[in-house]
Amino acid sequence: MAVTDNTPSRRSGTSVFWNRARAQFHATADLLDLDESCREVLGNCRRVVSVHCPVRMENGIIRSFRGYRAQHSNHRGPFKGGIRYHPEATQGEVMALAMLMTWKCAVVNVPFGGGKGGIVCDPQQMKPPEIERLTRRYTKELLPVIGPETDIPAPDVNTNAQVMAWIHDTYAVEVGSTSLGVVTGKPASLGGSVGRQDATSRGCFFTCLKALPMFGLTPDKARLVVQGFGNAGYHMCRLWSEAGGKVLAVSSSRGGVYNKDGLDVEAAKRHYTEHGDLLAFKGGDQITNAELLTLECEVLCPAALEGAIKEENADTVRTRIVAEAANGPTTAEADAILQDKGIFVIPDILANAGGVSVSYFEWVQGITNFFWKQADVHERLKEIMDEAFDGVYEESKRRGVSMREAAMALGVSRVADAFKTRGLWP
Ligand code: NAD
Repeated sequence: MAVTDNTPSRRSGTSVFWNRARAQFHATADLLDLDESCREVLGNCRRVVSVHCPVRMENGIIRSFRGYRAQHSNHRGPFKGGIRYHPEATQGEVMALAMLMTWKCAVVNVPFGGGKGGIVCDPQQMKPPEIERLTRRYTKELLPVIGPETDIPAPDVNTNAQVMAWIHDTYAVEVGSTSLGVVTGKPASLGGSVGRQDATSRGCFFTCLKALPMFGLTPDKARLVVQGFGNAGYHMCRLWSEAGGKVLAVSSSRGGVYNKDGLDVEAAKRHYTEHGDLLAFKGGDQITNAELLTLECEVLCPAALEGAIKEENADTVRTRIVAEAANGPTTAEADAILQDKGIFVIPDILANAGGVSVSYFEWVQGITNFFWKQADVHERLKEIMDEAFDGVYEESKRRGVSMREAAMALGVSRVADAFKTRGLWP
């Protein structure tokens, strides 16, 4: 295990995304008039672990996969954040995502800090036993730095409840105790929480329920367009259509599908599960991901990867509300353009915080061994999301800033407060 300096080298993948996350933090620090000590500490990741995971492939060859775990801040509680499997995962990307997690946990006021992990791999090209061996080896490599009180992973892009179950099992076997709290997003049969599967989307949906009335709208009168049809994207579509709203378009990495009368979300899901994409789905017209972002709608929900809405295409976005289910889907330049166009943006660290909120519920249930009913999870999630939305909205009015700037101000000030109150050892 190599613990690297937290300034990533070019080779290890300094990303535009990390620079953007840092710039966003420093802009917030300016707004809050934070002192130099806070900027030094909170503007960097506390620790970044880089590992190589050798895995025996099904053909007998051993391949070594690069993996990362970035731990940004644990001032308010254990590091917390997902693990993604993606061919383009970089150290800079996980560092940026770890920093966003810190602010997000503070915005919804759950007692966690921020972390994020990634493995450079293409799970679509791998067999399940290979993914299992990779997951277990990665977990073993991270043993010194993860745990129920230290750092608690969760699902993200291309990882799911099964992957979390393997992480849990590997950790439990290695340390010799059940340790349900080491990971969240586990299957309900293995100490997971009911309601975790769709928590990110349900939280995002709750924030939309708050924003829509500002435009005289309700879901049944609002058309939704979603980029990405994985965990976050699919459940957002499902909840929208259950509320009587039309889902005009969805997409996967290979392209999307559009129906002006509304898609049959469950039929699209069946097709996606069977084929891994929406190509040749008969329930609508094929469109590109670029075209999808320009469709006229009331709510646009980017639910795929970072940087989808950028300077080049922001001006073509035709929606009233952008609800960021994905992390970092809008660049800073695009954000300014959306603001000029009067589009109401519900920022990622608020819009997709339902996932980490129910992860918190799962962690609490795991360490107390007392499991809640689904209705309790939904009710408490709504309470958290409504309170967070109201807090951010009031902050934006009070300071005369956007919802993103307000969410950042709330999140960063809570973490800075914890840092100052704890002081520094030694
Ligand atoms: P997922 O792997 O379940 O789904 C990702 C989807 O995005 C897939 O449909 C994939 O085909 C699509 N996609 C990938 N690249 C694309 C591209 N270039 N253009 C269009 N579509 C593309 O992942 P997920 O868990 O749904 O995560 C999606 C986003 O939501 C990520 O930004 C993630 O960080 C964020 N998020 C997820 C959770 C969670 O609980 N899963 C919580 C908070 C935030």
